[in-house]
Amino acid sequence: MTSVQLQLSRPGADSCDTGLTTAPWDIDLAPGYGPGASADDVIPAAAPRQGELPAEYKQAPDAELHERIRAAKATLGDRVVVLGHFYQRDEIVEHADYVGDSFQLANAALEHPHAEAIVFCGVHFMAETADILSRPEQSVILPNLAAGCSMADMANEDDVEACWDALTELYGTEPDAEGKLPVIPVTYMNCSAALKAFVGRHGGIVCTSSNAATVLERAFEAGQRVLFFPDQHLGRNTAVAMGISQDLMPLWRPRKPNGGNTEAELMDAKVILWNGFCSVHKRFSVAQIEQARAQYPGVQVVVHPECPLPVVQAADVAGSTDVIRRMVEAAEPGATIAIGTEINLVNRLAAQHPDKTIFCLDPVVCPCSTMYRIHPGYLAWVLEELVAGNVVNRISVDEETSADAKVALERMLAALPR
Ligand code: SF4
Repeated sequence: MTSVQLQLSRPGADSCDTGLTTAPWDIDLAPGYGPGASADDVIPAAAPRQGELPAEYKQAPDAELHERIRAAKATLGDRVVVLGHFYQRDEIVEHADYVGDSFQLANAALEHPHAEAIVFCGVHFMAETADILSRPEQSVILPNLAAGCSMADMANEDDVEACWDALTELYGTEPDAEGKLPVIPVTYMNCSAALKAFVGRHGGIVCTSSNAATVLERAFEAGQRVLFFPDQHLGRNTAVAMGISQDLMPLWRPRKPNGGNTEAELMDAKVILWNGFCSVHKRFSVAQIEQARAQYPGVQVVVHPECPLPVVQAADVAGSTDVIRRMVEAAEPGATIAIGTEINLVNRLAAQHPDKTIFCLDPVVCPCSTMYRIHPGYLAWVLEELVAGNVVNRISVDEETSADAKVALERMLAALPR
């Protein structure tokens, strides 16, 4: 059996769960996301699950899998493009034609209209987005269907529709004297295609962690308030940076009357925040930043905006994975940078910049256990099936959903990061 040991970011650091050294096919059939940072997040019953991976891919040694991936890619040539998210393990990233965040990979998918297949080494919502943006004759493939996102699963269509009904009943649907609608929906990229379509139908926009500020500005040009889902932290951090008081950001808890708020709180609201979060970024704390500053005087601290507000406020910089990457690249040799984001990206940056001290804020190493589901065995399998003329694990969004979601995604692509 092949298994991949996690690299630890600091001497003496420990993995949050040694079970993450287990091959994903051993945990894919369990009822939850499995060991790792999202161990407490229950995978919804309706989420797609991966079927049994053929034994030859489970049993092949790592070196053989890599050789087979390279051979299949060479045979397929320009017919296939492999996209890899920053949070993927190195064993996958080495085979990716493009590595980036979800915004960059959405653009990379658009730039390859002639590839027959886009193999998306990320999570389910990213592959759905690539399918929406790609041409109908292109196939988007997710090597392991169990690669979901626990944050995306915290907002489902029924709960968001119920929230919207409650808000429109309270606010009405008529614009004010300035022509602004009562509420504009904004969703973070990390959600299902159905929710992107919901946003498209209701005059809203999709955002990423790169362009959330621009998107919120656009939303406030069109509306009096914003309903932001599913990540409360990205919504709060972005709105606070725009000068909006936290008192005007009630938290919407699904399945509670008025989301657990009074009507007065909702009437005063500027940003209604969905009660969702990323299990990986929720782990970072102010105490970790204080410890890093005590241990490494002069350290620069950069965190992802999916971290809680106190962490973002205690850091020197908060920004998307691409901002983090660029900050490390721009730092002088000898610089020390503590990073609050997923460990695979941190370890890769540390390896690429041996002249700088780069480490993860969290001494207990926790990767995204859903990204982890993409193992070289799955990548070899989907590529060799393509060589044989078979498309497996195709992610396909229905036409109606796709058309509505595309409206919101095109608004996202037009809202350039500041
Ligand atoms: S890091 Fe968090 S938000 Fe990103 S895919 Fe993993 S669980 Fe989802």
